[in-house]
Amino acid sequence: MHLLAPLALTTKPSPLTYTSKSSNALYQRRVAGKRSALKSSKLCVRAIDAAQPFDSEARQSIRAREAITLKIGIVGFGNFGQFLSKRFVADGHTVIATSRTDYCSTAVELGVQFFKDGDDFCEEHPDVVIFCTSILSLESTLEEFPFQRLRRDTLVCDVLSVKQFPKHLFVQRLPKHFDILCLHPMFGPDSGKGSWQDLPLVFDKVRIGEGDKRQERCNHLLRFFETQGCRMVEMSCEEHDRQAASSQFITHTVGRMLGTMELSETTISTKGFDSLLSLVDNTYHDSFDLYYGLFLYNENASTELARLELAFDQVKSQLFCRLHELIRTEHFGKDLET
Ligand code: NAP
Repeated sequence: MHLLAPLALTTKPSPLTYTSKSSNALYQRRVAGKRSALKSSKLCVRAIDAAQPFDSEARQSIRAREAITLKIGIVGFGNFGQFLSKRFVADGHTVIATSRTDYCSTAVELGVQFFKDGDDFCEEHPDVVIFCTSILSLESTLEEFPFQRLRRDTLVCDVLSVKQFPKHLFVQRLPKHFDILCLHPMFGPDSGKGSWQDLPLVFDKVRIGEGDKRQERCNHLLRFFETQGCRMVEMSCEEHDRQAASSQFITHTVGRMLGTMELSETTISTKGFDSLLSLVDNTYHDSFDLYYGLFLYNENASTELARLELAFDQVKSQLFCRLHELIRTEHFGKDLET
């Protein structure tokens, strides 16, 4: 049985109501009376001066807290999953995670509750589930994932660096009652280790059910990125992949090539060279699975790779053509030029 707030036994008289000695004595007698009434009725004191659930003030503050914090479930607690979780936790959200590998101790350090078992994870009923698995493993992860244990109105997201592929998988595989939001933070643990100011966050509201609650939850998640400083870019998954092939895939390819060359700082490094080194820094540490996923699951990537190869060949042939002309002139004299 709950003890109601008006019975709360404050030991000090309130300065407003008990000022004189006689009124103080009156107060002490009342308190003593309440204590003995309590003993005889076997009531137990569970909270003193605490806000009670029937308080409209307490109810309002619970509602306000729920409105600004989400319970976010991360599937795939690797490099990027952990990076994202840290920011969610710092922003006051409750984060739970599950992954193929056991990350229990890392999760404790990050303030995240880790579940080795996918069923247990889903039974926590997160508001939002974000797939942070590798591009290559998304399909098999979805096949095994116990969606039936989630709440029917869960918002399901992904952060894959390609977008048409997860969108199609979600639309084909997820039951109709789930909302779908495809996200791509265009930065990672290296490029986004400091501020996220002006870093692009691409999103496509693929399927958000009607009703204020669903719309607001989706907007609330997006507002998290906005308040971190991200530049919010609403774009279809198809357009994302078209643009990303000629920007992100090329960036990663060049970063990998330069990383493979094992470039290092020199005492006369120019600003241009420094930016090449930082390109290597921002791309070369990503897993090869990630890079291979950018290639395999973006239908535009092979065309861009061919264009890059062609451009390299053209630049190289400009150099060698001029060199050949020079050698020819040296060997055969100027007459031959005409
Ligand atoms: P990743 O190598 O692309 O993915 C690693 C994650 O995938 C880990 O959580 C890993 O789980 C899981 N995984 C790999 N193979 C699996 C399998 N066979 N079955 C189940 N899970 C498997 O590296 P990442 O950098 O962490 O990227 C994660 C996602 O974020 C990718 O989709 C990537 O495109 C996206 N993303 C990354 C960046 C970035 O800069 N890194 C930026 C934006 C978006 P375990 O650790 O448990 O093995």
